[in-house]
Amino acid sequence: MGEFDLIAKYFTRPVKRAALGVGDDCALLAPAPGMQLAVSSDMLIEGRHFLSTVDPARLGHKALAVNLSDLAACGAKPLAFTLALSMPSVDEAWLAGFSRGLLGLADEHGCELVGGDTTRGPLNICITVFGEVPAGAALLRSGARTGDDIWVSGTLGDARLALEAFRGTLSLPATMFKFARLRMEQPTPRVALGLALRGIATAAIDVSDGLIGDLTHILLASRVGARLDADAAMDMIAARRMPANAESGLALETLRACALAGGDDYELAFTARATARDAVEQAAHASHTAVTRIGTIESALGVRVVDAHGTVLPQRFTGFDHFG
Ligand code: ADP
Ligand code: MG
Repeated sequence: MGEFDLIAKYFTRPVKRAALGVGDDCALLAPAPGMQLAVSSDMLIEGRHFLSTVDPARLGHKALAVNLSDLAACGAKPLAFTLALSMPSVDEAWLAGFSRGLLGLADEHGCELVGGDTTRGPLNICITVFGEVPAGAALLRSGARTGDDIWVSGTLGDARLALEAFRGTLSLPATMFKFARLRMEQPTPRVALGLALRGIATAAIDVSDGLIGDLTHILLASRVGARLDADAAMDMIAARRMPANAESGLALETLRACALAGGDDYELAFTARATARDAVEQAAHASHTAVTRIGTIESALGVRVVDAHGTVLPQRFTGFDHFG
């Protein structure tokens, strides 16, 4: 099977919203009047961002999910994406699974594959997404103000628990591992929440490299600091709430580290005025996404992680490298 047959079979579909899709030298997109185009790229490299043994359908899903997560963080509605793919050989079973996972998630979000590039090389997947957002309404990193609440969507830390189980640095009960692995391999981009937070969130980011690290990007851009409730963050580990957790024997330190600095969560961390709590809850409800309030923006720079008693914990989580 040659390059063009492969593109035709696995990556070409009739266009819907785009003016022109796969098959010409460029795709053509027409954002609606008054809208700005939100553009973001993310690359996934075998061995660095995913394990070579991962199910191809899950990999297809994740490759697009991490990109949609960036649109979500900006409050942009997905429109289209391109796929630049290099792979060592044509493996039709792999391609079928990959395109099924990829295009399945694309359809869920009405995001069309409009073009790309396909070459021989190490397995490497680079997606660029295009979304639209009313001019001036995009959620940015720079709007957090002293006194704002800090919120995080969904769950935290599960993906890192799964990664560490794969690495063999900890062992999880089977039900916990199964769940955590799904969070690692098939993250859910919080697109509906991002849209619902337009005009409510003062700043937002998606959590890909760990909560504290990503929150720090908001703090630097907004020139503020934060106080974070370590136990509230730790309670966001979904696998912890499973009955199997009783016998998991995971140390408090490990759980805190996974929640605060685990990575690969693809949740939204955002700030909003304390007077906007009802509006945030309504946005969460309308988008069927749980949100948890885990801290406060303060004028003093840096991050202070506190326990349930308000005691400041040693700053072990910034530049976290617990697992090496
Ligand atoms: P060119 O070299 O003229 O840019 P290519 O031969 O690379 O075009 O690709 C032919 C067409 O197929 C183009 O429209 C391109 O956008 C599309 N395409 C190539 N690879 C992919 C892919 N992996 N997914 C979707 N479309 C692709
Ligand atoms: Mg090309």
